Amino acid sequence: MERKNAWLTYDEAQLEELKQLNEGYKDFLSKGKTERECVKIAVQMAKEAGYQDLNEVKSLKPGDKVYAAAMGKMIILYQIGKQPLEQGMNILGAHIDSPRLDLKQNPLYEDTDLAYLDTHYYGGIKKYQWVALPLAIHGVVAKKDGSVIDIVVGEDDNDPVVGITDLLIHLAGKQMEKKASVVIEGEELDVLVGSKPLKDTEKDAVKTGILSILKEKYDIEEEDFLSAELEVVPAGKARDFGLDRSMVISYGQDDRVCAYTSLVAALEVEAPEKTAVCILVDKEEIGSVGATGMQSHFFENTVAEVMDRMGVYSELAVRRCLANSNMLSSDVNAAYDPTFAAAFEKKNCSYFGRGVVFSKYTGARGKSGSNDASAEYMGKLRKVMDDNAVNFQTAELGKVDFGGGGTIAYIPAAYGMNVIDSGVAVLSMHAPWEICSKADIYEAKKCYVAFLKDM
Ligand code: MN
Ligand code: MN
Repeated sequence: MERKNAWLTYDEAQLEELKQLNEGYKDFLSKGKTERECVKIAVQMAKEAGYQDLNEVKSLKPGDKVYAAAMGKMIILYQIGKQPLEQGMNILGAHIDSPRLDLKQNPLYEDTDLAYLDTHYYGGIKKYQWVALPLAIHGVVAKKDGSVIDIVVGEDDNDPVVGITDLLIHLAGKQMEKKASVVIEGEELDVLVGSKPLKDTEKDAVKTGILSILKEKYDIEEEDFLSAELEVVPAGKARDFGLDRSMVISYGQDDRVCAYTSLVAALEVEAPEKTAVCILVDKEEIGSVGATGMQSHFFENTVAEVMDRMGVYSELAVRRCLANSNMLSSDVNAAYDPTFAAAFEKKNCSYFGRGVVFSKYTGARGKSGSNDASAEYMGKLRKVMDDNAVNFQTAELGKVDFGGGGTIAYIPAAYGMNVIDSGVAVLSMHAPWEICSKADIYEAKKCYVAFLKDM
Protein backbone atom coordinates (compact mmCIF):
# COMPACT_ATOMS: atom_id res chain seq x y z
CA MET A 1 0.00 0.00 0.00
CA GLU A 2 2.95 2.32 -0.53
CA ARG A 3 1.87 5.69 -1.91
CA LYS A 4 3.70 7.16 -4.87
CA ASN A 5 5.68 10.39 -4.83
CA ALA A 6 3.40 13.19 -6.04
CA TRP A 7 6.22 15.06 -7.80
CA LEU A 8 6.31 12.25 -10.40
CA THR A 9 2.67 12.86 -11.35
CA TYR A 10 2.86 16.54 -12.34
CA ASP A 11 2.78 18.04 -15.81
CA GLU A 12 4.15 21.52 -16.60
CA ALA A 13 0.84 23.28 -15.90
CA GLN A 14 0.57 21.64 -12.48
CA LEU A 15 4.17 22.52 -11.62
CA GLU A 16 3.39 26.16 -12.45
CA GLU A 17 0.24 26.05 -10.31
CA LEU A 18 2.25 24.49 -7.47
CA LYS A 19 4.84 27.25 -7.74
CA GLN A 20 2.24 30.03 -7.65
CA LEU A 21 0.50 28.54 -4.63
CA ASN A 22 3.78 28.27 -2.72
CA GLU A 23 4.78 31.85 -3.55
CA GLY A 24 1.51 33.02 -2.00
CA TYR A 25 2.04 30.70 0.94
CA LYS A 26 5.53 32.02 1.69
CA ASP A 27 4.21 35.57 1.58
CA PHE A 28 1.42 34.61 4.01
CA LEU A 29 3.98 33.06 6.40
CA SER A 30 6.31 36.06 6.22
CA LYS A 31 3.51 38.53 7.00
CA GLY A 32 1.37 36.39 9.32
CA LYS A 33 3.46 35.46 12.34
CA THR A 34 0.73 35.82 14.95
CA GLU A 35 -2.91 34.72 15.04
CA ARG A 36 -3.95 38.38 14.81
CA GLU A 37 -1.82 39.01 11.73
CA CYS A 38 -3.22 35.86 10.08
CA VAL A 39 -6.80 36.99 10.74
CA LYS A 40 -6.06 40.41 9.25
CA ILE A 41 -4.66 38.84 6.09
CA ALA A 42 -7.57 36.38 5.91
CA VAL A 43 -10.12 39.21 6.21
CA GLN A 44 -8.39 41.09 3.42
CA MET A 45 -8.26 38.03 1.15
CA ALA A 46 -11.89 37.20 1.94
CA LYS A 47 -13.07 40.73 1.16
CA GLU A 48 -11.22 40.65 -2.16
CA ALA A 49 -13.09 37.41 -2.93
CA GLY A 50 -16.46 39.01 -2.24
CA TYR A 51 -16.97 38.07 1.42
CA GLN A 52 -18.81 40.46 3.74
CA ASP A 53 -18.73 40.84 7.52
CA LEU A 54 -21.57 38.71 8.93
CA ASN A 55 -22.38 41.51 11.40
CA GLU A 56 -23.14 43.85 8.51
CA VAL A 57 -25.38 41.47 6.57
CA LYS A 58 -29.16 41.37 7.18
CA SER A 59 -30.13 38.38 5.03
CA LEU A 60 -28.37 35.49 3.34
CA LYS A 61 -29.20 33.23 0.38
CA PRO A 62 -27.33 30.49 -1.51
CA GLY A 63 -24.15 31.83 -3.10
CA ASP A 64 -23.64 34.55 -0.49
CA LYS A 65 -20.27 34.77 1.28
CA VAL A 66 -19.68 36.05 4.82
CA TYR A 67 -16.99 35.97 7.47
CA ALA A 68 -17.04 36.39 11.24
CA ALA A 69 -14.00 37.17 13.38
CA ALA A 70 -13.63 36.75 17.15
CA MET A 71 -11.43 39.24 18.98
CA GLY A 72 -9.25 39.49 15.90
CA LYS A 73 -7.75 36.05 16.59
CA MET A 74 -10.17 33.54 15.08
CA ILE A 75 -12.12 33.73 11.83
CA ILE A 76 -14.82 31.66 10.15
CA LEU A 77 -15.84 31.95 6.49
CA TYR A 78 -19.20 30.77 5.17
CA GLN A 79 -20.21 30.37 1.54
CA ILE A 80 -23.90 29.48 1.53
CA GLY A 81 -24.60 26.32 -0.48
CA LYS A 82 -27.57 25.24 -2.55
CA GLN A 83 -28.70 22.57 -0.08
CA PRO A 84 -30.65 23.51 3.06
CA LEU A 85 -28.27 24.14 5.98
CA GLU A 86 -30.06 21.53 8.08
CA GLN A 87 -28.54 18.90 5.78
CA GLY A 88 -25.10 19.89 7.00
CA MET A 89 -22.02 21.81 5.90
CA ASN A 90 -18.56 20.91 4.63
CA ILE A 91 -16.08 22.41 7.07
CA LEU A 92 -12.34 23.00 6.85
CA GLY A 93 -10.64 23.73 10.17
CA ALA A 94 -7.03 24.66 10.96
CA HIS A 95 -5.22 26.66 13.64
CA ILE A 96 -3.28 29.90 13.25
CA ASP A 97 -1.48 30.06 16.61
CA SER A 98 2.08 28.73 16.77
CA PRO A 99 4.60 28.04 19.53
CA ARG A 100 6.44 31.21 20.59
CA LEU A 101 7.57 33.29 23.55
CA ASP A 102 4.97 35.69 24.99
CA LEU A 103 6.11 38.73 26.99
CA LYS A 104 5.09 38.64 30.63
CA GLN A 105 2.81 41.42 31.88
CA ASN A 106 5.71 43.07 33.72
CA PRO A 107 8.52 42.14 31.34
CA LEU A 108 11.13 44.89 31.23
CA TYR A 109 14.13 44.85 33.60
CA GLU A 110 17.78 45.74 33.69
CA ASP A 111 20.66 43.61 34.96
CA THR A 112 24.30 44.72 34.83
CA ASP A 113 23.80 47.38 32.16
CA LEU A 114 21.73 45.03 29.94
CA ALA A 115 17.97 45.42 29.38
CA TYR A 116 15.74 42.34 29.02
CA LEU A 117 12.14 41.39 28.29
CA ASP A 118 10.99 38.44 30.39
CA THR A 119 8.83 35.85 28.62
CA HIS A 120 6.56 32.87 29.27
CA TYR A 121 6.71 30.40 26.42
CA TYR A 122 3.50 29.39 24.59
CA GLY A 123 2.98 25.84 23.35
CA GLY A 124 5.39 22.92 23.31
CA ILE A 125 8.98 23.91 22.55
CA LYS A 126 12.50 22.55 22.96
CA LYS A 127 13.68 25.62 24.88
CA TYR A 128 17.31 25.19 23.85
CA GLN A 129 16.27 25.82 20.23
CA TRP A 130 15.24 29.41 20.96
CA VAL A 131 18.63 30.83 22.00
CA ALA A 132 21.30 32.42 19.80
CA LEU A 133 18.82 33.28 17.05
CA PRO A 134 17.61 36.62 15.67
CA LEU A 135 14.10 37.16 17.06
CA ALA A 136 11.33 39.65 16.23
CA ILE A 137 8.54 41.12 18.35
CA HIS A 138 4.99 41.11 16.96
CA GLY A 139 1.79 42.11 18.69
CA VAL A 140 -0.42 44.80 20.11
CA VAL A 141 -0.44 47.22 23.02
CA ALA A 142 -3.90 48.30 24.20
CA LYS A 143 -3.81 51.65 25.95
CA LYS A 144 -6.16 52.95 28.61
CA ASP A 145 -7.74 55.39 26.14
CA GLY A 146 -8.95 52.41 24.06
CA SER A 147 -6.42 52.79 21.27
CA VAL A 148 -4.58 49.67 20.13
CA ILE A 149 -1.06 49.99 18.77
CA ASP A 150 0.31 47.40 16.34
CA ILE A 151 3.96 46.53 16.83
CA VAL A 152 6.30 44.65 14.50
CA VAL A 153 10.04 44.94 15.15
CA GLY A 154 12.67 42.79 13.50
CA GLU A 155 11.22 41.97 10.09
CA ASP A 156 12.22 44.94 7.92
CA ASP A 157 15.83 44.80 6.67
CA ASN A 158 16.46 48.11 8.45
CA ASP A 159 14.92 46.95 11.75
CA PRO A 160 17.01 45.81 14.68
CA VAL A 161 16.37 42.25 15.94
CA VAL A 162 16.46 40.94 19.52
CA GLY A 163 17.38 37.56 20.97
CA ILE A 164 18.33 35.22 23.79
CA THR A 165 21.94 34.49 24.62
CA ASP A 166 23.51 31.07 25.25
CA LEU A 167 26.54 30.19 27.34
CA LEU A 168 29.77 29.94 25.37
CA ILE A 169 30.94 26.36 24.73
CA HIS A 170 34.25 27.12 26.50
CA LEU A 171 32.44 27.48 29.84
CA ALA A 172 29.59 25.06 29.20
CA GLY A 173 31.06 21.87 30.65
CA LYS A 174 28.40 21.65 33.37
CA GLN A 175 25.58 22.85 31.08
CA MET A 176 26.38 20.19 28.48
CA GLU A 177 26.00 17.43 31.06
CA LYS A 178 22.38 18.46 31.76
CA LYS A 179 19.32 16.77 30.28
CA ALA A 180 18.14 18.51 27.09
CA SER A 181 14.90 19.54 28.83
CA VAL A 182 16.83 21.70 31.30
CA VAL A 183 19.85 22.83 29.26
CA ILE A 184 17.89 26.07 28.87
CA GLU A 185 15.03 26.56 31.34
CA GLY A 186 11.85 28.60 31.02
CA GLU A 187 13.05 31.45 33.20
CA GLU A 188 16.22 31.73 31.12
CA LEU A 189 14.21 32.69 28.03
CA ASP A 190 14.72 36.41 28.62
CA VAL A 191 15.13 38.51 25.51
CA LEU A 192 18.08 40.92 25.37
CA VAL A 193 16.83 44.25 24.01
CA GLY A 194 19.39 46.91 24.97
CA SER A 195 22.80 47.85 26.37
CA LYS A 196 23.12 51.64 25.98
CA PRO A 197 22.55 53.71 29.14
CA LEU A 198 20.62 56.95 28.85
CA LYS A 199 22.84 59.83 29.97
CA ASP A 200 22.10 61.68 33.23
CA THR A 201 19.94 58.84 34.56
CA GLU A 202 20.37 57.76 38.19
CA LYS A 203 19.05 54.21 38.14
CA ASP A 204 18.41 51.58 35.42
CA ALA A 205 19.79 53.84 32.72
CA VAL A 206 19.66 51.16 29.98
CA LYS A 207 16.04 50.24 30.77
CA THR A 208 15.19 53.95 30.86
CA GLY A 209 16.76 54.30 27.43
CA ILE A 210 14.57 51.49 26.08
CA LEU A 211 11.48 53.09 27.62
CA SER A 212 12.31 56.42 25.98
CA ILE A 213 12.55 54.67 22.59
CA LEU A 214 9.16 52.98 23.17
CA LYS A 215 7.67 56.36 24.15
CA GLU A 216 9.07 58.09 21.11
CA LYS A 217 8.26 55.34 18.59
CA TYR A 218 4.91 54.03 19.84
CA ASP A 219 3.81 56.53 22.52
CA ILE A 220 3.65 53.78 25.15
CA GLU A 221 4.69 53.79 28.83
CA GLU A 222 5.99 50.91 30.93
CA GLU A 223 2.51 50.46 32.47
CA ASP A 224 1.11 49.80 28.98
CA PHE A 225 2.84 46.37 29.02
CA LEU A 226 0.06 45.39 31.45
CA SER A 227 -2.42 45.38 28.58
CA ALA A 228 -0.29 44.10 25.73
CA GLU A 229 -0.03 40.90 23.71
CA LEU A 230 3.53 40.84 22.43
CA GLU A 231 4.88 37.65 20.90
CA VAL A 232 8.56 36.94 20.32
CA VAL A 233 9.07 34.88 17.16
CA PRO A 234 11.98 34.00 14.85
CA ALA A 235 12.91 37.00 12.69
CA GLY A 236 13.00 36.62 8.93
CA LYS A 237 11.02 35.49 5.93
CA ALA A 238 9.83 32.11 4.70
CA ARG A 239 12.22 30.79 2.06
CA ASP A 240 12.67 28.05 -0.48
CA PHE A 241 14.56 25.13 1.05
CA GLY A 242 16.76 22.61 -0.74
CA LEU A 243 18.99 23.06 -3.76
CA ASP A 244 16.03 21.92 -5.88
CA ARG A 245 13.69 24.42 -4.14
CA SER A 246 11.27 21.57 -3.42
CA MET A 247 10.57 22.61 0.18
CA VAL A 248 9.64 25.67 2.26
CA ILE A 249 11.40 26.62 5.51
CA SER A 250 9.64 29.04 7.84
CA TYR A 251 8.50 29.79 11.34
CA GLY A 252 4.89 28.84 12.08
CA GLN A 253 4.10 26.23 9.43
CA ASP A 254 2.28 24.32 12.21
CA ASP A 255 -0.44 25.04 11.40
CA ARG A 256 -0.44 27.92 8.94
CA VAL A 257 0.35 25.41 6.19
CA CYS A 258 -3.15 23.96 6.64
CA ALA A 259 -4.69 27.36 7.44
CA TYR A 260 -3.44 28.98 4.23
CA THR A 261 -4.32 26.06 1.96
CA SER A 262 -7.79 25.79 3.58
CA LEU A 263 -8.34 29.51 3.11
CA VAL A 264 -7.23 29.48 -0.52
CA ALA A 265 -9.47 26.47 -1.21
CA ALA A 266 -12.47 28.11 0.46
CA LEU A 267 -11.97 31.26 -1.62
CA GLU A 268 -11.53 29.27 -4.83
CA VAL A 269 -14.66 27.12 -4.62
CA GLU A 270 -17.74 28.64 -6.24
CA ALA A 271 -21.41 27.74 -5.79
CA PRO A 272 -20.95 24.62 -3.64
CA GLU A 273 -23.82 22.19 -3.09
CA LYS A 274 -23.32 22.23 0.70
CA THR A 275 -22.44 25.37 2.61
CA ALA A 276 -18.64 25.64 2.56
CA VAL A 277 -17.01 26.69 5.82
CA CYS A 278 -13.43 27.54 6.73
CA ILE A 279 -12.51 27.91 10.41
CA LEU A 280 -9.12 29.38 11.33
CA VAL A 281 -8.82 29.06 15.07
CA ASP A 282 -6.51 30.25 17.86
CA LYS A 283 -5.17 28.56 21.04
CA GLU A 284 -4.76 25.02 19.64
CA GLU A 285 -1.22 24.82 20.97
CA ILE A 286 -2.41 25.29 24.56
CA GLY A 287 -5.51 23.08 24.48
CA SER A 288 -8.02 24.97 22.28
CA VAL A 289 -9.19 26.93 25.31
CA GLY A 290 -10.55 30.45 25.72
CA ALA A 291 -12.91 32.63 23.72
CA THR A 292 -10.92 32.21 20.49
CA GLY A 293 -10.09 28.50 20.83
CA MET A 294 -12.08 25.67 19.22
CA GLN A 295 -13.76 24.91 22.56
CA SER A 296 -15.44 28.33 22.60
CA HIS A 297 -19.05 28.64 21.40
CA PHE A 298 -18.07 31.09 18.66
CA PHE A 299 -18.48 28.59 15.82
CA GLU A 300 -21.86 27.34 17.01
CA ASN A 301 -23.03 30.91 17.62
CA THR A 302 -22.12 32.02 14.11
CA VAL A 303 -23.94 29.00 12.64
CA ALA A 304 -27.01 30.20 14.52
CA GLU A 305 -26.48 33.73 13.19
CA VAL A 306 -26.14 32.45 9.62
CA MET A 307 -29.33 30.38 9.93
CA ASP A 308 -31.08 33.39 11.41
CA ARG A 309 -30.08 35.53 8.40
CA MET A 310 -31.52 32.80 6.14
CA GLY A 311 -34.80 32.73 8.05
CA VAL A 312 -34.33 29.07 9.03
CA TYR A 313 -33.09 29.44 12.61
CA SER A 314 -34.27 27.22 15.39
CA GLU A 315 -32.31 25.50 18.14
CA LEU A 316 -33.17 22.16 16.55
CA ALA A 317 -32.15 23.31 13.07
CA VAL A 318 -28.72 24.41 14.37
CA ARG A 319 -28.20 21.04 16.05
CA ARG A 320 -29.20 19.16 12.91
CA CYS A 321 -26.95 21.32 10.76
CA LEU A 322 -23.94 20.62 13.01
CA ALA A 323 -24.68 16.90 13.37
CA ASN A 324 -25.06 16.44 9.61
CA SER A 325 -21.80 18.22 8.77
CA ASN A 326 -18.48 16.86 7.51
CA MET A 327 -15.18 18.28 8.67
CA LEU A 328 -11.49 18.06 7.87
CA SER A 329 -9.62 18.96 11.03
CA SER A 330 -6.38 19.96 9.40
CA ASP A 331 -3.12 20.03 11.25
CA VAL A 332 0.45 19.06 10.59
CA ASN A 333 1.81 15.53 10.89
CA ALA A 334 5.32 14.32 11.68
CA ALA A 335 7.18 13.67 8.43
CA TYR A 336 9.37 10.58 8.38
CA ASP A 337 12.89 11.70 9.18
CA PRO A 338 15.62 9.18 8.22
CA THR A 339 17.94 10.81 10.78
CA PHE A 340 15.51 9.85 13.55
CA ALA A 341 14.11 6.71 11.97
CA ALA A 342 13.65 4.96 15.32
CA ALA A 343 10.71 7.26 16.18
CA PHE A 344 8.62 6.13 13.20
CA GLU A 345 6.77 3.02 12.09
CA LYS A 346 7.45 3.01 8.38
CA LYS A 347 4.15 1.52 7.16
CA ASN A 348 2.09 4.09 9.06
CA CYS A 349 3.85 7.43 8.98
CA SER A 350 3.78 10.38 6.60
CA TYR A 351 6.44 11.08 3.99
CA PHE A 352 7.52 14.24 2.19
CA GLY A 353 6.09 14.40 -1.32
CA ARG A 354 3.44 11.71 -0.90
CA GLY A 355 0.55 14.13 -0.54
CA VAL A 356 -1.98 15.27 2.00
CA VAL A 357 -2.11 13.13 5.17
CA PHE A 358 -5.21 11.55 6.70
CA SER A 359 -5.05 10.29 10.27
CA LYS A 360 -8.08 8.26 11.28
CA TYR A 361 -7.02 8.87 14.87
CA THR A 362 -4.36 10.69 16.85
CA GLY A 363 -3.82 10.44 20.60
CA ALA A 364 -1.30 8.83 22.94
CA ARG A 365 -1.12 5.77 25.20
CA GLY A 366 -3.76 3.67 23.49
CA LYS A 367 -5.27 6.43 21.27
CA SER A 368 -6.26 8.43 24.36
CA GLY A 369 -7.64 11.86 23.54
CA SER A 370 -8.31 10.94 19.94
CA ASN A 371 -11.25 11.60 17.66
CA ASP A 372 -11.47 8.28 15.88
CA ALA A 373 -13.02 8.97 12.48
CA SER A 374 -15.53 6.37 11.27
CA ALA A 375 -14.53 3.82 8.64
CA GLU A 376 -17.53 4.87 6.51
CA TYR A 377 -16.41 8.50 6.49
CA MET A 378 -12.85 7.53 5.51
CA GLY A 379 -14.32 5.33 2.79
CA LYS A 380 -16.27 8.23 1.30
CA LEU A 381 -13.23 10.51 1.53
CA ARG A 382 -11.10 7.98 -0.36
CA LYS A 383 -13.59 8.11 -3.22
CA VAL A 384 -13.67 11.93 -3.32
CA MET A 385 -9.86 12.08 -3.25
CA ASP A 386 -9.45 9.47 -5.99
CA ASP A 387 -12.18 11.05 -8.16
CA ASN A 388 -10.31 14.37 -7.94
CA ALA A 389 -6.83 12.85 -8.46
CA VAL A 390 -5.60 14.05 -5.07
CA ASN A 391 -2.39 12.37 -3.86
CA PHE A 392 -2.95 11.30 -0.26
CA GLN A 393 -1.29 9.13 2.38
CA THR A 394 -2.38 7.87 5.79
CA ALA A 395 -0.32 8.15 8.97
CA GLU A 396 -0.06 8.03 12.71
CA LEU A 397 2.16 10.45 14.60
CA GLY A 398 5.22 8.26 15.16
CA LYS A 399 5.52 4.85 16.80
CA VAL A 400 3.02 3.54 19.35
CA ASP A 401 3.90 4.77 22.86
CA PHE A 402 6.63 7.13 21.62
CA GLY A 403 4.51 10.16 22.46
CA GLY A 404 1.62 11.57 20.52
CA GLY A 405 -0.38 14.70 20.07
CA GLY A 406 -3.88 16.12 19.95
CA THR A 407 -5.75 18.36 17.55
CA ILE A 408 -9.06 20.21 17.45
CA ALA A 409 -10.85 17.22 15.85
CA TYR A 410 -12.55 15.84 18.95
CA ILE A 411 -14.23 19.17 19.74
CA PRO A 412 -16.52 19.60 16.69
CA ALA A 413 -16.95 15.79 16.66
CA ALA A 414 -18.92 16.23 19.90
CA TYR A 415 -21.78 17.67 17.81
CA GLY A 416 -22.05 14.28 16.13
CA MET A 417 -20.50 15.36 12.85
CA ASN A 418 -17.99 13.37 10.83
CA VAL A 419 -14.48 14.66 11.51
CA ILE A 420 -11.11 13.34 10.43
CA ASP A 421 -7.60 14.64 10.98
CA SER A 422 -5.85 15.65 7.80
CA GLY A 423 -2.94 17.88 6.94
CA VAL A 424 0.63 18.27 5.81
CA ALA A 425 3.80 16.47 6.89
CA VAL A 426 6.43 18.66 8.59
CA LEU A 427 10.10 18.17 9.44
CA SER A 428 11.43 19.80 12.64
CA MET A 429 7.88 20.43 13.88
CA HIS A 430 7.68 23.08 16.65
CA ALA A 431 11.28 24.17 16.02
CA PRO A 432 11.78 27.89 15.29
CA TRP A 433 12.17 26.95 11.60
CA GLU A 434 9.96 24.14 10.25
CA ILE A 435 10.13 22.49 6.82
CA CYS A 436 7.34 21.34 4.48
CA SER A 437 7.28 19.86 0.97
CA LYS A 438 5.82 22.10 -1.72
CA ALA A 439 4.15 19.09 -3.32
CA ASP A 440 2.31 18.29 -0.08
CA ILE A 441 1.18 21.91 0.24
CA TYR A 442 -0.20 21.72 -3.31
CA GLU A 443 -1.94 18.41 -2.62
CA ALA A 444 -3.47 19.78 0.60
CA LYS A 445 -5.05 22.64 -1.32
CA LYS A 446 -6.35 20.21 -3.98
CA CYS A 447 -7.76 18.02 -1.21
CA TYR A 448 -9.59 20.92 0.43
CA VAL A 449 -11.14 22.07 -2.86
CA ALA A 450 -12.30 18.52 -3.63
CA PHE A 451 -13.75 18.19 -0.12
CA LEU A 452 -15.75 21.41 -0.31
CA LYS A 453 -17.06 20.56 -3.79
CA ASP A 454 -17.84 16.87 -3.50
CA MET A 455 -18.33 15.63 0.09
MN1 MN B 1 -0.83 21.96 15.05
MN1 MN C 1 1.57 22.12 17.19
